[in-house]
Amino acid sequence: MSKGGSENIKILFVTTEIAPFSKVGGLGDVAGSLPKALKKAGVDVRVVTPAWPGVLDKAEALGLKLTKVSRHVYAAYNWEIKQAEIYKTEVDGVLVYFLKADDYNGDMYPPQLNFWTASPFAVFCLQAIELSKSINWTPDIFHCHDWTSAFLPCALAWHRHYRQTGLKSIMTLHNVAYQGVLEPSPFIEASGLEPWSFNASTMEFYSQVNLLKGGIVAASAITTVSPTYASEIQTYESTRELSGVIYQQRHKLRGILNGIDVDYWNPASDKLISKNFTLSDMRGKYQIRKELLNKAGFDPETQDPVVVCVSRLVDQKGFGLVIDAIERLPQMGAKFIVLGTGHEWIENALLDASARHPDCIKLFKGYDEPLSHLLYAGGDIFLMPSEFEPCGLSQMISMRYGTIPVAREVGGLKDTVIDVDNPDGGNGFTFLTYDTDGMLWALGRAIARYKDKDAWQKIIARGMTEDFTWDRSAELYKNLYQEMLNA
Ligand code: ADP
Repeated sequence: MSKGGSENIKILFVTTEIAPFSKVGGLGDVAGSLPKALKKAGVDVRVVTPAWPGVLDKAEALGLKLTKVSRHVYAAYNWEIKQAEIYKTEVDGVLVYFLKADDYNGDMYPPQLNFWTASPFAVFCLQAIELSKSINWTPDIFHCHDWTSAFLPCALAWHRHYRQTGLKSIMTLHNVAYQGVLEPSPFIEASGLEPWSFNASTMEFYSQVNLLKGGIVAASAITTVSPTYASEIQTYESTRELSGVIYQQRHKLRGILNGIDVDYWNPASDKLISKNFTLSDMRGKYQIRKELLNKAGFDPETQDPVVVCVSRLVDQKGFGLVIDAIERLPQMGAKFIVLGTGHEWIENALLDASARHPDCIKLFKGYDEPLSHLLYAGGDIFLMPSEFEPCGLSQMISMRYGTIPVAREVGGLKDTVIDVDNPDGGNGFTFLTYDTDGMLWALGRAIARYKDKDAWQKIIARGMTEDFTWDRSAELYKNLYQEMLNA
């Protein structure tokens, strides 16, 4: 244990997704890049994650050496002993443990949560607690992420086997809108929680189990992924009623801004784009821009700015505004290219619009990592009009590739995108209120400014030189771990 000194604090990241093996969204990016920065800051951090279908193959395809740990991990759940094989690999100096078992053979995230679909997540948390017995390494703190690992702090507080172990956990909230809500029966009994732990001051929520609420109440500390979101979630409706609970627990809440993996997201060395570029030599960007326009079926020589968007197609990301404005977009003097997948109504509305306006609106439907790089690198403007945004990584990635964000002033967007019309200048175009006219006003300003090549190049320069590394945030996490150990 590392009480007192600051070196070699032992942290186990408990996460159900991690780039580049099982990324679904920002959580995957964070789990893939923050440990690397923590390691650099002197923290002994390791990661445990389920070996979802295809994950081990992906690790092998990436040329990583997978070693099977000689012991399995065992945990009691639903009156059975649940066991998993442990495979370990090292990614940029960080040890990652993959747990392989039938429990993790289904879809990563179930559309409906019930006892059966929630069980893999509970089993995973119990196996994460038990892992130390098999790997000869015991963490000082379990660092959990979102509802999918929120059962771990609950177990440390209320499970009949673990509640007196004194083990500590920290819960990071990447998106409070997803909470892991299910019927209490038979979950409470089967999971091993003490029956009295199901009450309004713990994990009960309108007669249901709310795993995230339990994690928030039970964890020793809570962080969220930007300072603005940390204050918004104490009052804001995007928490789906959890704001009261978070307000009550605010004494242990901190907002620590996410960074991005600047080695991976680097236009100077990115292997997924056809030509690399830097701020002092942008020729590569303009070539990629042509490639992108070609691929979208647009005129590659167009002088109109290329507005891009890489996103889950869900309400949270502001597609209500985009769809509402869709018939006004073709008159704006820009090309619009979206890459994403998600709600059918959004996909259909975008597909219909691209059929009506084949020379200026295009949807690439799907999740496609290489194509996302083409959009980040080939775009001029990145549209991100989110209704709420815990941190958001896409705006930071786009700035790194010289693609200027148009974003709503909310959550982490407010902490990272500064309007260019501020007295001190800025790196993007912002609007405050969640409405269509506000979005079009900010977008209109960006499109008009694009024509002023000198002004535009200055904005690009500011974005491309912003510090989005994890270094500062890794120090803040490290300080928090140390405070928790000294408490
Ligand atoms: P969220 O986690 O809410 O989805 P973030 O902005 O924090 O949003 O992170 C999104 C991450 O997922 C970024 O790395 C983005 O490039 C990636 N992403 C989102 N949609 C797609 C897609 N359709 N194809 C490829 N990457 C995507």
